[in-house]
Amino acid sequence: MVQPRKPISVSEAVSRVMQLPVHTYTETVPLEQAGGRILAADVHADADVPPFDRSPLDGFAVRAADTKEASRENPVHLRVLETVGAGHTATVKPEAGECIRVMTGTMMPEGTDAIIMFELTKELENGALIEITRAFHPQDNVVIQGEEMKRDSVVLEKGERIHAGAVAGLATFGCAEVETARPVKVGVYATGTELLEPGEALEPGKIRNSNAPMVLQQLREAGAEPVYYGQLPDEFELCYEKVADALQHVDALITTGGVSVGDFDFLPAIYEKLGAEVLFNKIAMRPGSVTTVAAIDGKPLFGLSGNPSACFVGFELYAGPWIRQAHGDTHPYLQPAPAVLGSDFPKPNPFTRFVRGIVRFNESGMVAVPAGLDKSQVVTSLARSNALIVLPGGTRGYQKGDAVDVLMLRGDGSDTFSEPVKER
Ligand code: AMP
Ligand code: MG
Repeated sequence: MVQPRKPISVSEAVSRVMQLPVHTYTETVPLEQAGGRILAADVHADADVPPFDRSPLDGFAVRAADTKEASRENPVHLRVLETVGAGHTATVKPEAGECIRVMTGTMMPEGTDAIIMFELTKELENGALIEITRAFHPQDNVVIQGEEMKRDSVVLEKGERIHAGAVAGLATFGCAEVETARPVKVGVYATGTELLEPGEALEPGKIRNSNAPMVLQQLREAGAEPVYYGQLPDEFELCYEKVADALQHVDALITTGGVSVGDFDFLPAIYEKLGAEVLFNKIAMRPGSVTTVAAIDGKPLFGLSGNPSACFVGFELYAGPWIRQAHGDTHPYLQPAPAVLGSDFPKPNPFTRFVRGIVRFNESGMVAVPAGLDKSQVVTSLARSNALIVLPGGTRGYQKGDAVDVLMLRGDGSDTFSEPVKER
């Protein structure tokens, strides 16, 4: 007889997964491979930024004192000694009445203390002289050494995700190599005798395996190293052996399908035979109430539902945060944001729903609508969704205009948050 499963709340399920032990291994990689990874150590500035006083524009480096008396009625003439481009340094030091023509980024020539932009000067004698009709003060238009950041300050903190801007920061401070979290290796098996690979033609009773490619991509987006082991037919012994073997080679294993109570849903029996501890096998959520997480020697086995929407949501709520936490990411959870419902959800549901939705900005803020059919077995709504609309369980439905939380899906893992989803 099938034993009834006792549902636990989403937050309880999340907290059980997040309590599994993690070992963050680090790996030093070249800067060009560091993007998307998590920093494993704070990065300090190895020099002031900018590293020298410099000109922020194309103009003339002058001694401010020379311009003190300049006015329309009393224009001052300065002799131009040379032209210096960015990357070069001046070869002469201007004395009274002399200046140097400089380009944006040029180091301030010795003896000069202000920059006058071309547009405020008049060139005379074929550029050998310039005429100035107003006074300038020391440091006018000069970018001062260290004004942006002082040497030894913290540029980026351990646990931050290395996005494009962070790469610029690392490059600025000479980090040709970066200490990062080593991506956790996560194996994937799709179970189901009905599955065809995407390249295969449809045949009666069979469907294409969309879960495995989807989960592999979710893993990449979460920064893990995916290992695809393939599809498994619903045969207990074979599945048991493959799962047991894969566990030897990965930090975590994801299976899709076979976690429910059907005659050919063998994952529960596999966990039992493995001696794995089942953290939960029923969550008060839709889709994906059968999402099961077990652990063996602290290593998680994520048993995601075969239903594509449920599989997707199960990954995003449990596997993704665990992976990011294992990388030392200080923001492992999906980012919640307040939104307003753009359509009605009249049917009450005792379980918290995570509707695959589309969130758009309009004049009144963020508006969330379902991306397609809101059913566990639906795959096509996933293709267009950019958020999960959170509809806490209860005895009433929801109306257009109700305030809700949405969990933003970004795909690149950058939009993550330090707190898990809260149920009301
Ligand atoms: P299961 O969780 O194994 O009971 O499967 C639930 C539903 O999801 C069934 O209709 C399956 O055919 C379908 N399904 C299972 N695995 C996949 C997969 N890898 N890709 C797409 N659909 C699947
Ligand atoms: Mg199945």
